[in-house]
Amino acid sequence: MYDVIVVGARCAGAATAMLLARKGHRVLMVDRAGFPSDVAMSTHLVWHAGVESLSRWGLAQAVEASNCPPLVDVTLDLGAFALRGSPATTGPARCALAPRRIVLDQILVDAAVAAGVEFRPDFSVTELLREGDRVTGVKGEGVQSQGVEERARIVLGADGSHSRIARRVEAAESHPQPELQATYFSYFSGLEVQGIEFFPRPGRMVYAWPTNDGRVLVGISWRLEDLREVRHDVDKHFHAELAALAPGLGERVRSARRDAPWVRGGAAGFFRQAFGPGWALVGDAGVTMDPITAAGITNAFRDADLLADKLDAGLSGHQPLEQALAQFQQERDQASMPVYGLTCQMAALAEAPAEMMKVFEALQGNQADIDRYFGVFAQTVPVMEFFDPANLQRIVSQA
Ligand SMILES: Cc1cc2nc3c(=O)[nH]c(=O)nc-3n(C[C@H](O)[C@H](O)[C@H](O)COP(=O)(O)OP(=O)(O)OC[C@H]3O[C@@H](n4cnc5c(N)ncnc54)[C@H](O)[C@@H]3O)c2cc1C
Repeated sequence: MYDVIVVGARCAGAATAMLLARKGHRVLMVDRAGFPSDVAMSTHLVWHAGVESLSRWGLAQAVEASNCPPLVDVTLDLGAFALRGSPATTGPARCALAPRRIVLDQILVDAAVAAGVEFRPDFSVTELLREGDRVTGVKGEGVQSQGVEERARIVLGADGSHSRIARRVEAAESHPQPELQATYFSYFSGLEVQGIEFFPRPGRMVYAWPTNDGRVLVGISWRLEDLREVRHDVDKHFHAELAALAPGLGERVRSARRDAPWVRGGAAGFFRQAFGPGWALVGDAGVTMDPITAAGITNAFRDADLLADKLDAGLSGHQPLEQALAQFQQERDQASMPVYGLTCQMAALAEAPAEMMKVFEALQGNQADIDRYFGVFAQTVPVMEFFDPANLQRIVSQA
């Protein structure tokens, strides 16, 4: 009998399991994947707020030590002009990091195990155990074992956007956002980029940032309806689009070496009910966002902290568990919704409206507000604070 069983051992699951074990709870964490292993379909930019979580947990140094460069500079190339800066922060993190998931997830798993979590890789949860309507454990299979049953006071679904746990408990979904765009990306050697570079164009988003071992991740997001052609010859379309939309970067990419296959990825967005009798969801299982704002890992870290605190209060009897989990859902939704709204808007890859272009123009030369705008994406400046009409008006009238 465990206090908590965590299904899924990546940025949401391993972080939550680690935090719960550090608070003294008995935790079993399982994942159907073997570890170390990669998450092929996802880029992996961890914004400043996510790096702050890693710092608080004592893990940021291990990530940087994996030959993963700090990403201090951000460039938003709007075609006619570019905004350059570094997200405004009040916490200790002065950079973003973009570790490969095979590196990041393993650092989290190792930290969870070091904290006392019992970890079972290659173990797939197939069913939930119940008493009445309460979830009481999981049933699953490992490489050489079938029908294994494990029991806990609560089961956490940290099993990603297609969460089997969410399906089994029929967690209600809300705020659906269809997949509007998808991306192709790969890794290049011999390419120099200045921190994180974005090139928004109508119907497209070009992006690049360094990751582990001197490699640079370069990708283009396409509006879904424009993507059909691309898959027949990704290389040709990728280089043609880069040359047309971001010629400076395109030229550098042409003379670099691609040393990984193309990866295609995208996601529909939604919120799910976060808890019920004997279960809770964390990470993409609970809230999935379109990847355009690269917010998923940073959100997962924030929610791991939130959920671990609430579960600790509930499991140790300081607060009724149900009430603690209701607070988790409320705080998760409050923190996620503004980022989700911005993400849904950006996923359309539409041309910036005239009022926003005025703000971008006014931001030129205004370093403090450029940095605050970038802070919205780094999740160090609240979305609603920057986009408050009075703030936008101030920026425009100061220009
Ligand atoms: C194209 C694309 C690009 C992205 N780029 C970024 C980015 O740059 N930055 C960012 O922050 N986010 C990005 N994201 C989002 C990010 O990938 C997710 O938010 C993040 O992976 C969520 O982590 P998680 O731990 O919740 O779930 P996952 O990483 O999906 O992990 C779930 C785990 O659960 C396990 N599992 C599933 N079912 C079972 C089962 N039945 N039994 C046992 N184990 C199970 C899986 O094996 C897996 O290891 C991107 C997403 C996409 C699609």
